Amino acid sequence: MPDNCIFCKIIAGEIPGNFVYQDDEIVVVEDIAPQAPHHYLLLPKKHIPTTLDLDLEDRELVGHIHRVAARIARDKGFADEGFRIVNNCNEGGGQVVWHLHFHLLGGRRMGWPPG
Ligand code: 5GP
Repeated sequence: MPDNCIFCKIIAGEIPGNFVYQDDEIVVVEDIAPQAPHHYLLLPKKHIPTTLDLDLEDRELVGHIHRVAARIARDKGFADEGFRIVNNCNEGGGQVVWHLHFHLLGGRRMGWPPG
């Protein structure tokens, strides 16, 4: 685990996070600066900097993340009204934390195109 990765530290319990789900492969925490009534971050426990760094062996991981996101949307009661799963890649894509993560946003109407 890189010394300076804030998400690795949350996963390791070294800094606090409001966990809503975890298993052997991923954790889900509330975003510290929510952009919607529901805003969760789905984080692989494995440190992968960006989508560009995904290996063939990670393909099931990404599918698993999306299935867990759908389950959380259902469990939290905002699946039917609609939600958004977002991955920001690299600086121009809006990424600020260099540990792969997927945003799950719900509880409000989403605009398009995104900013
Ligand atoms: P990015 O722009 O890299 O896709 O998103 C990074 C996200 O991480 C942002 O939505 C930001 O609010 C969230 N974030 C940054 N630092 C922390 C933290 O210490 N704890 C939690 N729970 N979220 C964080």
